[in-house]
Amino acid sequence: MTAIKCKRCKENDATVKSRKEPFCDACFLKFVSLKQRKLMMTDEFYRDHFKVLYGKDLKNNGVSKIVVPFDFSSSSFSALDVLVSLLKEQNLQHRGRVGFRVKIITVFKNEQERELFEQSWKMFRNSDIYDDQVWLQFEWHLINAESFFRDAKDLQQIILHHQDFNSMGLQYELKDNSEYNIEVLLARCPNRNTRNDMWIFIVSHLIKKFAYQQTDCEVILWAHSMTKLADHIIGLVVKGRGAQIAASLNSTVFDSDYGARFKNLYPLKNTLLSELDAYCIITGLNKYIVNYTVKNDLMITKDIKEKSADLSQNVRLVKNMTINELARKYFNDIEGEYSNIIATVLRTGDKLKPPTIINKPEGYSNEISKCSICLNTIYSNPSEWLRNIAINRGHPIETKEEQELYKQWQSSQVGIQTEVYLTLRNKAWSEGHDIPLCYGCIINLNGIKTREIIWPKHEEDELENVLNEFELSD
Ligand SMILES: [Zn+2]
Ligand SMILES: [Zn+2]
Repeated sequence: MTAIKCKRCKENDATVKSRKEPFCDACFLKFVSLKQRKLMMTDEFYRDHFKVLYGKDLKNNGVSKIVVPFDFSSSSFSALDVLVSLLKEQNLQHRGRVGFRVKIITVFKNEQERELFEQSWKMFRNSDIYDDQVWLQFEWHLINAESFFRDAKDLQQIILHHQDFNSMGLQYELKDNSEYNIEVLLARCPNRNTRNDMWIFIVSHLIKKFAYQQTDCEVILWAHSMTKLADHIIGLVVKGRGAQIAASLNSTVFDSDYGARFKNLYPLKNTLLSELDAYCIITGLNKYIVNYTVKNDLMITKDIKEKSADLSQNVRLVKNMTINELARKYFNDIEGEYSNIIATVLRTGDKLKPPTIINKPEGYSNEISKCSICLNTIYSNPSEWLRNIAINRGHPIETKEEQELYKQWQSSQVGIQTEVYLTLRNKAWSEGHDIPLCYGCIINLNGIKTREIIWPKHEEDELENVLNEFELSD
């Protein structure tokens, strides 16, 4: 059997096949790497942050700081590897000078996860994959997700009105760490969808807060693949968060929710997840991946075909999947033959403009109102819309029999919970402050049994409150 030749160099045997094209290892790595590099040089702003600059007046000697969120996935490792190859080139061409330094940041959920990440990082660091010159440009920081509450300046308790879908907030004091934490919050979520929604926000908030607190850091490089961004877009649409798509993919303006100090760059947005998996298999970086199983679908050559992806991970029942997982499953299933669909979803999402604000919530007419939970702009009044579609008012008690039934209900578990809720709600409505919420967050909150949530107040003070992170050095 004659092997298929690589279509690029026409010399080596093909080892990978992607988008119907056969590649050899070297040409494939170049293909993936160029896609990322192209987006890193997309305009003058980003070019100036990545390339080697000369001149007396340059800040930090022309070396800029880049924050790279790192979750030990194939995407994180390949993004980092492409940065490494750029650093190596610069080092060589500019005789020891490089254009940027990298702050790698990992958010961990619990001690177990932290141990896994640390183990993997040590293995990675102690390997001979990169030389010391490269490691000098890296700093690895770990942040405990609990710092979302612990290192918050001010917390508030947000309560949703069960009939009007308006919400009010009360000042909240965290007495001890065990009373309310990430675990408690996530356990209260009614389903994995809401849990996932909250978790995504918590991680992104901590990373952006970290970037805010770095002096002179103007770029966060998010290693999200085209596949992940496409499932993110579909997920937002399904969750009623379609209006936030445009803002969530914007890489040209400074992030105004975080003091306009940095821009968010998505340089892997033209690369498929399966391509990043193949990249990690070829480079051997797959050894260090945590919480994710790489797929070898694109590998042609059998001897580098790793053992097939762990099937037990894929048997989660469809009905138990989050919207994002469903979208991901769909995109995974079509990635081979129909990868252009993924590209179309992304391109369409990328072209969307933010909607115009049509119906502001009462009391917020003078300024653009932002959701107090997820910080997204509120484009139309979601409470009013929900009031119009839902009939939520109970029937008044009229007969003796109804009165009896009501009493029974009152002493039941649900009845007691409702009393607790009503007491809290009345307190919030007499002493609290207005809280604007977006449609997606109202739906999440309405699904939580107690219809309340503890959340940091998003203010300049909150961003200044220093995060308790630590750096792992050798
Ligand atoms: Zn080739
Ligand atoms: Zn929201």
